[in-house]
Amino acid sequence: MDFDLSPEQNAFRDEVERFLDDHDDPEVFDVTRENMAQIVDTPRRRDFMKLIAEKGWLGITWPLEWGGQEGDGVYEYILNEALARRGGPQIGKGVGIIGKTILAHGSDRLKREFLPKILNNEIEFAVGYSEPDAGSDAASMKLRATRDGEGWRLNGQKTWTTSAHFAEWYWVGARTDPDNKHRGITLFLVPLDHPGITIRGIWTMGDERTNEVFFDDVWVSDDYVVGEVNRGFQYISEALDLERFSMFTFSPIEQRLDLLCEFVRTETRDDAPLRADPVVRRQVAQLVTQGEVARVLGLRFVAASMTGGAPPTAEASEYKLYATELSKRLANASMDIAGAGAQLRVKTEEAPMKGRAESTYRYTVIDTIGGGASEIQKNIIARRKLGLPKNF
Ligand SMILES: Cc1cc2nc3c(=O)[nH]c(=O)nc-3n(C[C@H](O)[C@H](O)[C@H](O)COP(=O)(O)OP(=O)(O)OC[C@H]3O[C@@H](n4cnc5c(N)ncnc54)[C@H](O)[C@@H]3O)c2cc1C
Repeated sequence: MDFDLSPEQNAFRDEVERFLDDHDDPEVFDVTRENMAQIVDTPRRRDFMKLIAEKGWLGITWPLEWGGQEGDGVYEYILNEALARRGGPQIGKGVGIIGKTILAHGSDRLKREFLPKILNNEIEFAVGYSEPDAGSDAASMKLRATRDGEGWRLNGQKTWTTSAHFAEWYWVGARTDPDNKHRGITLFLVPLDHPGITIRGIWTMGDERTNEVFFDDVWVSDDYVVGEVNRGFQYISEALDLERFSMFTFSPIEQRLDLLCEFVRTETRDDAPLRADPVVRRQVAQLVTQGEVARVLGLRFVAASMTGGAPPTAEASEYKLYATELSKRLANASMDIAGAGAQLRVKTEEAPMKGRAESTYRYTVIDTIGGGASEIQKNIIARRKLGLPKNF
């Protein structure tokens, strides 16, 4: 398989880079937010995404019928990686996860209401699967939806809902059949300004906000059920495959590998160049090699997605597991190699590697949990790819 970009793809990448140069803005681009840089959480970031929408770059892979271009996923990948490299907002959640799931399973009414708004970047979403007793085992969710007239009444709690404090719509799973674990969950779209919804912030060790969300008698019309009642867990599983790829980009890892290599090339320890230390050389060579593996696993997911049908599950898990664990190993190695100074934070002048060793040492742990923890990715690979039994 050829993993190099074609001349057309290279030309698109150059066009994106020129566009990003022309719209460079420190209030929009901030690599030090690490993976959370992807969320579209400020008016300036929304304005910027509107420009991306005007370029027609939000619907690259969507069908022509719904305003898309029916282009190859590799163009979406090139765009997202370019945005991530600069710490810019990305196209993951609305276009990549919710839009694609509505396209695959939503009613015509939901398509007509939501798809144009997603393509024009008029709305933001929060995703609500996790609850206090349902994280890795999302199918244990208890938030209750009971039948009420021509709709449903929702009561209960979600947790770790990133973006709930600024998004307009909640993409939320609820239990509609208490007697059937996996076939008893339904996916709803709920406006986050509903008076029965209360949102409370939780701050992560990476300095970013996520939320607890409480539902108190929130009525939702049948029109806002996504797909079929009780089939929500299937849609959630497919959406998670998309999330594991589109929300964990590779280019920030590549950028931090470059920072570490530059540090090793130029710094000294005990009056000797760091680049002469055999242990450091071996460590850096290993990390750079692993970086190439992560890059190719990402491209393999893109290639597998282009065959049509549901997103490729094992490839999504392999990429997510490998890339996020590598990112953590890289942060740990950067701390070790830079020594005590590595504890200096971002925006401290003397901080080695611009303070990214310290910030990513805290932040990268989060990426190995969100979107499904590493152990869960290993379970998926063991079952789906290797055919090993579920539990023993
Ligand atoms: C910053 C952040 C943002 C998030 N944003 C969102 C969001 O927007 N929406 C949302 O719905 N969720 C979100 N999450 C939640 C995330 O998906 C869950 O944290 C994750 O699924 C793990 O669930 P848990 O925290 O309940 O841990 P648990 O499921 O309790 O797991 C605890 C530990 O046990 C391990 N474990 C659990 N089950 C198994 C098993 N069967 N085999 C082996 N090991 C196992 C896990 O790997 C983990 O190490 C976010 C999480 C974080 C940290």
